[in-house]
Amino acid sequence: MALNLIILGPPGAGKGTQADRLAASKGIPKISTGDMLREAVKAGTEVGLRAKAIMDRGELVSDEVIIGIVEERLARADARNGFILDGFPRTVAQAQALDGVMAGRVPLIVIDIAVPEAELVRRLTSRLVCGTCGQNADPSDAQAVTTMRCGKCGNALIQRSDDNEATIRERLKVYEKNTRPLVDYYAGRPTFRSVDGAQAPDIVAAALVDAVESARAVVAGGSAL
Ligand code: AMP
Repeated sequence: MALNLIILGPPGAGKGTQADRLAASKGIPKISTGDMLREAVKAGTEVGLRAKAIMDRGELVSDEVIIGIVEERLARADARNGFILDGFPRTVAQAQALDGVMAGRVPLIVIDIAVPEAELVRRLTSRLVCGTCGQNADPSDAQAVTTMRCGKCGNALIQRSDDNEATIRERLKVYEKNTRPLVDYYAGRPTFRSVDGAQAPDIVAAALVDAVESARAVVAGGSAL
């Protein structure tokens, strides 16, 4: 049975890190709208050129553009057996559009990663990512952090241009206003789970696997869906 999963949570909650791990272990694609936009910026496409300024201000790219990108991506063959969405949906309009796309497919499992704001700011201001493959550096990987080289591909680690204090504050504000309401949007579903993200990545990963498995049992049972 396909695993169609959304990972919700504020910026810095660890969505990308956890989605990478789970996608690798389940053999399904991680679909990160932030990564797709950063690739478009790098490639200099029209969408990328327009998105760059919005991203650097910490605001959201329009629902219309993002929904179009995700619909196209979910229609690809490799998403038929499942996917992990990271950074989408971020607004109620995006969630409603996704529900439309999911009609006739295996129901969504939604996991919210909860982390207090002070911890998010601490993580984001010190976050390093690979400028080439986009993977977040593991803060406990002393060699990567000392050499400033990616532990996965060996290329240079950088700070994301939107990981500065002013933009981080704006992104957290935008999250509270536009994205946190999604917790209420999904919380009544039997396939919604919340995990405590203020723990070590391995512990969060284990909690995430447990949450996914318990929600999958509900999907398999077909109860109240
Ligand atoms: P992320 O890598 O998920 O933190 O996303 C980086 C930036 O890309 C966000 O601050 C937004 O400007 C933009 N972005 C990513 N995903 C979305 C989305 N679903 N809706 C609107 N904007 C998005």
